[in-house]
Amino acid sequence: MRMVGKVIVLTGIPGVGKTTVVDELLRIAKEQGKKVSAVNFGTTMMEVARKEGNVKNRDELRKSAVEFQKRIQIEAAKAIAGQVKEGGIVLVDTHMIIRTEEGYYPGIPQDVINVLRPSSYVLVETDPKEILARRSKDKTRSRDMILAQEIESELQLSRAAAMACAVATGTPVKIVQNPPGKQAQAAKELLPLL
Ligand code: AMP
Ligand code: MG
Repeated sequence: MRMVGKVIVLTGIPGVGKTTVVDELLRIAKEQGKKVSAVNFGTTMMEVARKEGNVKNRDELRKSAVEFQKRIQIEAAKAIAGQVKEGGIVLVDTHMIIRTEEGYYPGIPQDVINVLRPSSYVLVETDPKEILARRSKDKTRSRDMILAQEIESELQLSRAAAMACAVATGTPVKIVQNPPGKQAQAAKELLPLL
């Protein structure tokens, strides 16, 4: 059954300014009278995980057993698909890769694609040095402190994962750059996807 609404999967590695771009896109879309909403995949996963009791925060989630994350991930995808049925465009704020203790795990594996059936994938990117600076400024999160070189490799892996999703279903991938202060421009580049 085809869902009524449309799903745009918006991804970017932590510190890229993805949520800022999502907020900006929501603002512009509203001005244009488009029915667009956003959902944070991590937040939905936390809601599901909390019901099971043993995860305290979102950084702990990423460090739990992959088998557990996989189960919570599919439940979260189903919950989000339920919201999409209500119509409109839903921006899903998430990641192409998850840095787990067992290695990189896909944010959007095939079973999640089957549930969400996205119409586009977006990768938000910026300069690795800028990402490092943003991560060290964000004291609300216990993010892994890594080198600019590792960030470069996460950007590449995210592109590879996005293209794997794209090939699986014939779905486009849009890459937008989000340099400091340019979130409005980044958001405008996404308007043709709505
Ligand atoms: P964020 O707030 O976007 O940094 O996401 C918080 C956490 O949610 C991440 O560190 C992951 O543990 C989890 N998460 C978000 N999206 C996904 C996904 N698609 N698959 C698995 N875990 C995810
Ligand atoms: Mg975010």
